[in-house]
Amino acid sequence: MFRLLKGFGVTLNYFRKKNLTIQYPEEQMVMPERFRGIHRFFPEKCIVCNLCVQVCPTDVITLTGKKDEDNPKKKIIDTYNIDFQGCILCDFCTEVCPTDAIVMTARYDNLSEFNRADHFKDIHWLTANDHYGYYKDPEVEAKEKAEKQAKREAAKKKKEEEAAAAEKEEAKTESKSATATATAVKTGDDKGEAKKAEAEKPEAKSEDKAEAKADEKQAETKKEEQPQAKKEEQQEKAEQETNEAGPKAKADESAKEEQAAEQASGTSSDEKADEKSADSAEAEFSEKKSSKDDAGRGDNQ
Ligand code: SF4
Ligand code: SF4
Repeated sequence: MFRLLKGFGVTLNYFRKKNLTIQYPEEQMVMPERFRGIHRFFPEKCIVCNLCVQVCPTDVITLTGKKDEDNPKKKIIDTYNIDFQGCILCDFCTEVCPTDAIVMTARYDNLSEFNRADHFKDIHWLTANDHYGYYKDPEVEAKEKAEKQAKREAAKKKKEEEAAAAEKEEAKTESKSATATATAVKTGDDKGEAKKAEAEKPEAKSEDKAEAKADEKQAETKKEEQPQAKKEEQQEKAEQETNEAGPKAKADESAKEEQAAEQASGTSSDEKADEKSADSAEAEFSEKKSSKDDAGRGDNQ
């Protein structure tokens, strides 16, 4: 009995709640924002990149493009078809589209046909499928773009104005400082001069110190140079002496060499003189002999 009353209680409780039944087809459910329904196509956005055709897992998309008359480098879409017999509403084609030319709507009930061939939808049907869905309405999109552009331009203008104001302030401060210095120079303010002198004092001190250091360095270098000059003078003297004694030393050396050669040959200068005297005696003897012979021949005749 208690269980029966409990069951009635649950049923009666639903009378208090809001009715969820929808009177379809007069009424339609509002689908979630990311619902993957039947496609909508925006031909003006399509750049004929063919990505949707390549990515479709069931190969149900076919398209053709043609050259734009205004801009031959650009292509525009000519035909775009989806065969909904094989479409699995996977959303790949809309994800890959770089310009959001193909999007998914929240519509799910406009493919009820008695003939399967009627599921082949062309560019006109897809463009006219303007049910709400997971995309922005073109008008709303255009409005948003215009607002963004206006914001950017306003920010640009603001920046330019700020920069101009900053430049003006800088120019003012510069002119003020220039006038102040000019007045100080004209009046010859004693305080300013005294301050300048005080400021220059350390500089003068530092200059004197630097000069003193330079003098000390010069004195050190002179001290180092004096012994070197002395050494050089001594070297020059020694070279001159060697040059003067050069010929004598050469003559002595040649005489010594001759003596050594004679000793090596085993004959002395005395022996050479004896040899010379012997040679001269022989010559005298031979001359005398020849004169005697000539005299004897004359007598015989
Ligand atoms: S939803 Fe998937 S199956 Fe359908 S046309 Fe796009 S890519 Fe192909
Ligand atoms: S619908 Fe998108 S992906 Fe497909 S061809 Fe056009 S621009 Fe490329």
